[in-house]
Amino acid sequence: MAYTYRPTPASRTMTPAPKHLEPLLQRNLSSDDADIVGRIRCSCGSDDLIPLFVGSRNETERRHYLQVTAIDGNWFLRLGCRCPKCSTESLIFDDHLHGWNGFVCAEEEVRSLPRPPFEQWHCQKCRSHQHRMAITIQTDDMETAIEEGGDLITEENWFEAFGWLTLDVTCADCGHGPNRIVDYETM
Ligand SMILES: [Zn+2]
Ligand SMILES: [Zn+2]
Repeated sequence: MAYTYRPTPASRTMTPAPKHLEPLLQRNLSSDDADIVGRIRCSCGSDDLIPLFVGSRNETERRHYLQVTAIDGNWFLRLGCRCPKCSTESLIFDDHLHGWNGFVCAEEEVRSLPRPPFEQWHCQKCRSHQHRMAITIQTDDMETAIEEGGDLITEENWFEAFGWLTLDVTCADCGHGPNRIVDYETM
């Protein structure tokens, strides 16, 4: 099913965040459109996090970034963070679980595939692991999501089927960034 991004009417109410992100997301409430914009923060209150990924780190261009990766014939893009202070590890995004493809289209056998282990993102300048992390999520409006998502999408869960995700990281040691390391259409 084609995903069509429509500009957001000013009157639209704020889109709820996907449930798994609620404990992590410090939402920028002054953002006046309906996109979800915010910082990632550990439940202990720390903003300095180690970005984690299952993906392919592209270092051929000036700015390093992540792409989906094929491992044993399956495609993966999985994002998370680990807090160096309290060691909590959190999942931010999994292509087989979240967003339009993961939530609406994924087959159960794909959802339950064993995931490869996380790698740690490092700063491309100083190689430090600790970063500030910011996320944006674009979601269709509720009516369109329900219309295109069939029986799976309801008024209770439509915001889980988001269409686009970005992740920006800024090195906590040398300040390099923000770098958009993920810019991903979820379908
Ligand atoms: Zn923590
Ligand atoms: Zn750095």
